[in-house]
Amino acid sequence: MAQNSRKWDIIILGGGPAGLTAAIYGSRAGYEVLVLERMLPGGEITLTENLDNYPGFPEGTSGPEFGQDLEKQAKRFGASMETVEVNKAFLEEQPKRMETSKGNYLADKVIVSTGTRPRSLGVPGEDKLKGRGISYCASCDAAFFKGKEVAVVGGGDAAVEEALFLTRFAEKVYLIHRRNRLRAVKALEEGLFSNPRVEFLGDTVISEITGENKVEGVQVVAKDKEYHLPVQGVFIYIGRLPHTELLQGQLDADENGYLVTDEEMRTSRSGVFAAGDIRRKVFRQVVTAAADGAIAAYTASRELQLP
Ligand code: NAP
Repeated sequence: MAQNSRKWDIIILGGGPAGLTAAIYGSRAGYEVLVLERMLPGGEITLTENLDNYPGFPEGTSGPEFGQDLEKQAKRFGASMETVEVNKAFLEEQPKRMETSKGNYLADKVIVSTGTRPRSLGVPGEDKLKGRGISYCASCDAAFFKGKEVAVVGGGDAAVEEALFLTRFAEKVYLIHRRNRLRAVKALEEGLFSNPRVEFLGDTVISEITGENKVEGVQVVAKDKEYHLPVQGVFIYIGRLPHTELLQGQLDADENGYLVTDEEMRTSRSGVFAAGDIRRKVFRQVVTAAADGAIAAYTASRELQLP
């Protein structure tokens, strides 16, 4: 595989809010910073239509715009960006080596901010009908369900937020949650319960997603009955899993796979930091991801200055 002989001070894996904030701080501190991102700048936030709770935007802002602005700001301080898939990170080597589809990239310090991906429901029909009426991204796919009936699964902020977004397109949105109480914040819950297009099905689980070539419904099990709900779309929002495959167990993680760091974002391996949703933490938000990114870059910069 091609070897890129240039050695960067800091390589950041993942260009979401955590990674791009780390890029802003690292490059502004005068270090050579490269961000490796496989999709769009902003990462998952680009799939959020309205970022409503980031401080300083009284009317909210659009996710894609926010991602692009973060990238512009990082570039203004001299950070470089590469759109590439990282296959494996060799974190024990010095310099540390990132093996990618475009060759190897080397760095003294690495900040891991690869975020999370959606968790699957794991019921019959899910694998077969993925992309055929089953989606994990309402902002990407809601428009296909204009005038139709859809089910959203989950009871957290993501499920409720996306159910509300779907009401702009779908005629009817069922929110199916395994308990009777939502986990989402009050403001979202109030929005949900006051929306005439939403029907909340609490204490209910999906046992199967039915359909041959496309979703035709879901088999649901409630406390005292089991029935078939005819819907054309199923949006699954039951939490997320950390994106750690490329690390292949080189960093300490908790029982759910989230990377364990100290308060200064150091992982279990010297010269490697973690920031954002990939990290074990209590509150996964854009603002906390950005804060992690700033701290990780600050700690990495300090170590580069005073090895
Ligand atoms: P989450 O808060 O972990 O909620 C996951 C939901 O899925 C829970 O209601 C859970 O039920 C349910 N669930 C889990 N496994 C299930 C299964 N096998 N079958 C059925 N239901 C299952 O995840 P999230 O909503 O994706 O949010 C992740 C993080 O991002 C959170 O920290 C959240 O606050 C944040 N977030 C924030 C915003 C915002 O502030 N606007 C928007 C999106 C996400 P139980 O409640 O019974 O456990």
